[in-house]
Amino acid sequence: MRLSRFHLHTEKETPAEAEIVSHKLMLKAGMIRKLAAGLYTWTPLGLRVLRKVEAVVREEMNRAGAIEMAMPSIQPRELWEETGRWEKFGPQLLKLRDRKDQEYCFTPTAEEAVTDFFRQEVASYKQLPLNFYQITTKFRDEIRPRFGVMRAREFVMKDAYSFHIDDASLAAEYRNMYDTYARIFTRLGLRFRAVAADTGAIGGNASHEFHVLADSGEDALAFCETSDYAANVELAEAIAPGPRPAPSEPLREVATPTQKTCEEVAALLGIPLARTVKSVAVIGTGPDGQPQFTLALVRGDHMVNTIKLAKLPGLAEYRLANEAEILEYLGSEPGFLGPLNPRKPIRVIADRSVAAMADFVIGANKPGAHIAGVNWGRDLPEPEVADLRNVVEGDPSPDGKGVLRIARGIEVGHVFALGRKYSEAMHCTVLDAHGKAVHPAMGCYGIGVSRIVAAAIEQNHDDAGICWPEAMAPWQVAVCIINPKQDPAVTAAAEALYSELLAAGIDTVLDDRGLRPGAMFADIELIGIPHRVVVSARGLEAGHYEYRARTASASETLDKVTLLTRLG
Ligand code: ATP
Ligand code: MG
Ligand code: MG
Ligand code: MG
Repeated sequence: MRLSRFHLHTEKETPAEAEIVSHKLMLKAGMIRKLAAGLYTWTPLGLRVLRKVEAVVREEMNRAGAIEMAMPSIQPRELWEETGRWEKFGPQLLKLRDRKDQEYCFTPTAEEAVTDFFRQEVASYKQLPLNFYQITTKFRDEIRPRFGVMRAREFVMKDAYSFHIDDASLAAEYRNMYDTYARIFTRLGLRFRAVAADTGAIGGNASHEFHVLADSGEDALAFCETSDYAANVELAEAIAPGPRPAPSEPLREVATPTQKTCEEVAALLGIPLARTVKSVAVIGTGPDGQPQFTLALVRGDHMVNTIKLAKLPGLAEYRLANEAEILEYLGSEPGFLGPLNPRKPIRVIADRSVAAMADFVIGANKPGAHIAGVNWGRDLPEPEVADLRNVVEGDPSPDGKGVLRIARGIEVGHVFALGRKYSEAMHCTVLDAHGKAVHPAMGCYGIGVSRIVAAAIEQNHDDAGICWPEAMAPWQVAVCIINPKQDPAVTAAAEALYSELLAAGIDTVLDDRGLRPGAMFADIELIGIPHRVVVSARGLEAGHYEYRARTASASETLDKVTLLTRLG
């Protein structure tokens, strides 16, 4: 590419609207332009980087045996009704209507579409396992789109979906995808960490997230340096529960006299309390006046979040607490989220609605009692995503093998073992070896392709601009001509070098714009080209080129052979 024929539009000033460095640099380098909230145009420069990321993702997915396909962006309501997600997905789902008054959504993910495809295409276990993937535009009507393409509304995602005859095959593919993700992020030159994650709105059993480590990350990761424990803090508590009661175990009432501490009530109920975060269940009144079950998550003196759950079935007469009572009960200042009064111990007051520590005990429908033997899923809906942002460094690791460290991360990938949730809901079956129709087990695996571009900049920049990892750079090498108009010999030499590099398969850009050296170098540094070669009259006379790596502190003078070896 010749820059004189390209559209490069860098800015001198740092854009005021951007809060984090990647957003600033993407605007300053002219990689993206905002069209509307959460909607960005990828400029020719930005698109080159996006395509490089896509290429690595595609290559590694293909290597892993996944098969590329493409599904529509607009999907009919009926399909999403089959899984209940037309409603359950919530306001992130953008809904549309066509001229015939048919309803559609813009795909935020494609479990429904791929399961529909699969049930029409695949009939026998002999065709399994299969892993289909696509790299396409997704839309989520994020409540707070921000940080440019990092949390956009329209973004590029690689999403893959695997189908299996049994759980062992799913487990093998889950591992295969986990390893593939590690390879992708390593090839892209990112510093990342895989952590255990919640299964959220997608549902399912096992789940890991891949995070690029960066202080600007929206997620807190808790990990233990002396063991394998690593979790999204969203989940640090929820993934370390004790054993669940057997599904057959009935709910039972246990007397828990008033004014007991968490520890004392736990002892009465016979449940372990070796948890970083304690959860306290409270039944209160919802805004509609209906009873509402709330799980308050408490760490030390902090109530870190509350999760609204549904009405507890079969317990019509429980005593209701309103929000003020819950606050009083937890000893908190108004504001609900945030620090509690540190001088006041958190007390479980069992005559005040309910209280519990483990996930498997909940409150009472009368003073001085708890209900034990609760099975999430059977007796109550599974809790929604917990958000425990106040877990702190030095807390004991839930596996008991050390202390927790906290790092911030940007979620760039997510693998889920879904099980049969979608195949069952959508009546998707294949014939097994005995000719019996069975629901295939599924996995799904996402990568935020466009988010990776921003995440990489968070990790790779300096005062002059972006320092791309080799695999993502818009070009590997920039050949810069000093005074191209004045000196035809210099231009000819630069052109020759440019052709030679291209012929050697090195993605090269020729800066033939005729800018002053200072302005030219500033652009090349800002847009983050890993290698810069300057061709000048003085250098040519001496038979050398001035070479500088983007991250090096000084230039080197190299003859052509050495230069080509260096770049090759
Ligand atoms: P987040 O927690 O950041 O909202 P998510 O868990 O909702 O992400 P997934 O459903 O796991 O996202 O989707 C797979 C991947 O898509 C994510 O790991 C992330 O990299 C990317 N992604 C999700 N939402 C966005 C967004 N609004 N903008 C850019 N990338 C996104
Ligand atoms: Mg999300
Ligand atoms: Mg997430
Ligand atoms: Mg996720």
